[in-house]
Amino acid sequence: MRPKLLIFDIDETLLHASRRGLNRVHDFLLGNYYVYLRPHVRDLFHFCRDRFKVAIWTSSSRNYALGTMHRLLPPDYPLEFLWSRQRCLEVFRQETQRLEHIKDLQDVESLGYGLHEVLFVDDTPRKLQRHLPNLVPISPFIGSSDDRVLVALMDYLEELKAVDDVRRVDKRGWQAARGIASGRSL
Ligand SMILES: [Mg+2]
Repeated sequence: MRPKLLIFDIDETLLHASRRGLNRVHDFLLGNYYVYLRPHVRDLFHFCRDRFKVAIWTSSSRNYALGTMHRLLPPDYPLEFLWSRQRCLEVFRQETQRLEHIKDLQDVESLGYGLHEVLFVDDTPRKLQRHLPNLVPISPFIGSSDDRVLVALMDYLEELKAVDDVRRVDKRGWQAARGIASGRSL
């Protein structure tokens, strides 16, 4: 079995960026933003390096994606891709009467991946509304230094890397099963 493709969202999944500083020291500044890394995020990427193909996909801007990942990852870290808002689909959301950027995995399929081997870690399930069976939902990180979700995630990914078809695994309760409150709902 070849390594699965693991795609990470950035904001509130890997880090929290805010124009207002929190009451603790930030990890780095990016433009006007104070950036707080989710605890163990560097351990997570180290863990994934030999076990998965790793990619990043944010609905933020390209410059933001490049800026944050440049600070977070070692320069030689192998990324399959680093995609930003330009790769998202714009859809109109009735409830908010606003355009929203969602992530459609068709572009990922065109890189030669089957959807049975693609996992997407994102704190906003509706961004993956077209591909919920590929989603590993994660609770949003808003800066707490006590957050231990990524430690639990590494444990769960160890399990998922061995399954034939990731879509067949019900991934909604993975955090609760490890004693962590669940993420937001669709
Ligand atoms: Mg997010």
